[in-house]
Amino acid sequence: MTKKGILLYLLGIGTLLAIVAIWYATAFQIRSLQEFGFFNGSRALSDVQTQVAFGPRIPGSEAHARTLDWMRMELQSAGWRTRTQKGEIMGHSIQNLIAFREESAPLIILAAHYDSRIYADQDPDPDKRMDPVPGANDGASGVAVLLELARSLPESTIPTWLVFFDAEDNGNIIGWDWILGSKSFVDQLDFAPMAVVVIDMIGDSDQNIYIESNSDKYLVDEIWDSANQLGYSDRFIPEQKYSMLDDHTPFLQKGIPAIDIIDFDYRYWHTTEDTPDKVSEESLQVVGKTISSWLGRRSSN
Ligand SMILES: [Zn+2]
Repeated sequence: MTKKGILLYLLGIGTLLAIVAIWYATAFQIRSLQEFGFFNGSRALSDVQTQVAFGPRIPGSEAHARTLDWMRMELQSAGWRTRTQKGEIMGHSIQNLIAFREESAPLIILAAHYDSRIYADQDPDPDKRMDPVPGANDGASGVAVLLELARSLPESTIPTWLVFFDAEDNGNIIGWDWILGSKSFVDQLDFAPMAVVVIDMIGDSDQNIYIESNSDKYLVDEIWDSANQLGYSDRFIPEQKYSMLDDHTPFLQKGIPAIDIIDFDYRYWHTTEDTPDKVSEESLQVVGKTISSWLGRRSSN
């Protein structure tokens, strides 16, 4: 081979290597930026409005029953099957709604509470403290994100259940306690999922989601990293702020990794002002896309 021949040979190899490298980098980047599912925040916001229009979803009320029927219909038209899990705690009948695509035990459970609180006891106006909470952010926002995930998650998603908990929000009321629905659910649980993700109060238009300090550290890392990669690090703030008793607690008590994604900086919490105008499409989108993206990572492993 002449000197020129060697040069041409090396140039050829070099070009091939460069092409392979560019192809690899592009493919990887496309993959990392690829959307998993097609979560639509505007549909989620309309689900918040629908729930609040039914009225306060107080256990035993007509609005509560209508919400259950409506959730079932939405889930079924998105191709999910549903089952109602019944129980009784403190004399209250509990109806948790479970949605699934496959009959087998899931690896992941995504959950939110669908009830709303009986009394707006944090209302600044003492005359309104016996009124019910409309529950746009506290209740309806989590349900809305789960329903939109049902519509938008691809069939290739890791086996997942969507669970809608009853009777989360009546603690500090005589004859009641917090998290009755999730307690009843975990009492009846006969398998251990890999991860449980609870979302609560995530729709505030002024969104600041801090790390809830009892949540599983590994799940926090994964989910905060997914949010960060989507450019949401100003929404998912990498600092601990609150320690919550919420629907993730019964799972943690059973040794199941669980996380509570909650934005507890919400000035309308347990007031009559917890109405849909305080919730934004964008905030619902941020949480929906973060969970979708995290599920995408879990689904490809
Ligand atoms: Zn609440």
